[in-house]
Amino acid sequence: MSFDDFGFDPRLLAGIRAMGYTTPTPIQAKAIPPVMQGQDVMGLAQTGTGKTAVFGLPILQRLLGGPRGVVRALVVAPTRELAQQIHDHLEALGARTGLRSATFYGGVNINPQIQKLRAGVEIAVGCPGRLLDHIQRRTLDLSRVEVLVIDEADRMFDMGFLPDVRKIIRSTPAQRQTLMFSATMPADIRQLAQEVLRRPVTVQIGHAAPADTVSHALYPVPQHLKTPLLLALLRRLGAGSVLVFTRTKHRARRVGQQLVKAGFAATSLQGNLAQRRRQAALDGFRSGKFQILVATDIAARGIDVSSISHVINYDMPDTADAYTHRIGRTGRAAKTGDAFTFVTSEDADMVRVIERVLGGRLERRTLEGFDYRAPAPARNTEFARGPLPPAHRSGGRPGRRAAPRK
Ligand code: AMP
Repeated sequence: MSFDDFGFDPRLLAGIRAMGYTTPTPIQAKAIPPVMQGQDVMGLAQTGTGKTAVFGLPILQRLLGGPRGVVRALVVAPTRELAQQIHDHLEALGARTGLRSATFYGGVNINPQIQKLRAGVEIAVGCPGRLLDHIQRRTLDLSRVEVLVIDEADRMFDMGFLPDVRKIIRSTPAQRQTLMFSATMPADIRQLAQEVLRRPVTVQIGHAAPADTVSHALYPVPQHLKTPLLLALLRRLGAGSVLVFTRTKHRARRVGQQLVKAGFAATSLQGNLAQRRRQAALDGFRSGKFQILVATDIAARGIDVSSISHVINYDMPDTADAYTHRIGRTGRAAKTGDAFTFVTSEDADMVRVIERVLGGRLERRTLEGFDYRAPAPARNTEFARGPLPPAHRSGGRPGRRAAPRK
């Protein structure tokens, strides 16, 4: 199968070529035809599978005909980074079409967004809060929307956005094409799908398990040796972009600082940063200025750096879904990657859950030459014994590690 088989306009085929895509990914091959036919689609696929083009290309194709200057496609995403990325992707694919896309998320001045709407855009990509804000101010008119995309629906649910998403959906015409994407199908997402999709075609890729281009390994380690182990591991990995996950914003910042101190080109990304600094951290990581990015789950959602070679879970994620999403950052679009997870004795339950989801036992590795019996460094007590705060999630899930560490 090739991109020529979908019936895209030559202007889109030029965009596809410019992006360097030669063959459709599995989800593109399966899902683009029903989307092109105007059917509703439920796509069970994580980020990294090529799903943006699944909705992006048919949207651009449809909008080539018909009126300009009115919002005819709306994409709702859980995070600013994902919204920005989708917008960039659409702009690149549609570079020759003259169609205009704009982003709508919080943390930045609303006025330029209003001006863009006044000037006329056909595609709106945004996060629920700011989209609702525009709807309430009547600066965004969704009455002409023909295609609605709800991306990373499970993340939207995790972050407590479903009520807002429902309100946004109610502002769009009942007669529309709706496309929903989710890596997992918790009950609430199933419910939402039943409410908003009409006779949907379900397309599933990989059963929501991480891309099989990723190799996984666990590194058992005492809590107080995580940072020394990280440093030792990074020294052996050599080149390649590395994304390190911590459980809290504070730890992301601290670990980032420790890496810089040790001489690594590292930066951190966490929710406390102003949008400008988040973007600078992301851009620096994408461009290779920073080899290592230390981030929390929320800050890292939707990050698309196709060259990420390693994901290191400094702290175990609190759900198997979070593991899948973190690992989805590497091995993207059939590149191979490694996923290393530091595990302490307290993580045994979550290891079992993840192994069940992955359908096999994960390899346990020890780093040769690393002193696993070293005592806790005196100055590093916070990492050695400090109780971890409850799980840091906007959705307010109870933390499984809220209890003080031994
Ligand atoms: P997505 O899941 O849409 O975020 O896409 C993940 C990554 O795969 C992005 O870097 C895309 O640019 C890339 N990608 C998407 N489709 C293709 C394709 N057909 N061939 C190669 N790379 C692709």
